[in-house]
Amino acid sequence: MDVSLDSIAYHEGDYRPMHSCHINIACHSFQYGTMVIGGIRGYYNQEQDEMYLFRVDQHVKRLLNSARIMQMKPSLSQEKIEKIICELAKRNQIRKNTYFRPCIYKSDLKLSPRLHDVNDSFSLYMIPLEDYLDTKRGLKVGISTWRRVEENMIPARVKSSGGYINSALAKSEAILNGYDEAIFLDARGMVSEGSAENIFIVRDNCLITPPPASGVLEGITRRTILELASDLKLAVLERDVARAELYISDEIFLCGTGAQIAWVQEVDRRPIGNGNIGEITSQLQGMYNEIITGKNEFYSKWLTPIYSSHS
Ligand code: PMP
Repeated sequence: MDVSLDSIAYHEGDYRPMHSCHINIACHSFQYGTMVIGGIRGYYNQEQDEMYLFRVDQHVKRLLNSARIMQMKPSLSQEKIEKIICELAKRNQIRKNTYFRPCIYKSDLKLSPRLHDVNDSFSLYMIPLEDYLDTKRGLKVGISTWRRVEENMIPARVKSSGGYINSALAKSEAILNGYDEAIFLDARGMVSEGSAENIFIVRDNCLITPPPASGVLEGITRRTILELASDLKLAVLERDVARAELYISDEIFLCGTGAQIAWVQEVDRRPIGNGNIGEITSQLQGMYNEIITGKNEFYSKWLTPIYSSHS
């Protein structure tokens, strides 16, 4: 997951090599975590020699919504940001699975943690990325001792760099305790999400996920799964999930742009279901993998091809 300093990035209004993209140490976002970020995947389909961006419009929309909450005034429109992402992919001539990281950050060299009266800038870079979590084997997850940031502390729906300290605390605790990933409870003690993924459980053939008000990032993959489930006529509920419900779920999976659909084998050392990937998880995972790589025409509306586009 290392950044290649030779790749082309977009910084201060220009496409340029990563090694020439710098920010000042007094930059507001560097000092106070006042940056909002996106995370978009591009999937390379070798047979078609095509690169597909997955739901780039939704990702840019969420980035701009995060910016609004942070009282930013980005000079670039949604359309322009999408164009820059496509252009960057083209300029790098990437032919492998890739992760794009657009950022809007408070760029003035100003002291004092505040949102108003600080200018912002846009940057974008990309890295090659295959699996972020191992989606082939089951994950062993543990409930974090860290609670998810509360709506009135750092709203989780803002994908902010500062907010990721919460995720980093939980992720490291989980890994150092021998788990693959952490599950947060929210301030009330209800299940929230993973450190960088939303969570779904299956009980009696019903797909259940915590609601946005339980401190979750409004995940694009989460929304995609809700839409797929509705198309498949699966029973779905967005409702509070209690910790002990995880232990007796038939299936559990985590989902996110990085994680994709990753199934959970154990929670707090308790096996989930029969210890294998569940039927509904397996069906959704198979479908998702086809869609993102351009092998399912019905959902090609969610893909932006890079090389065959004429813009
Ligand atoms: N929750 C958190 C905390 C995340 O960092 C992510 C990854 N962006 C997600 C959920 C999943 O969101 P998405 O499906 O939009 O990637």
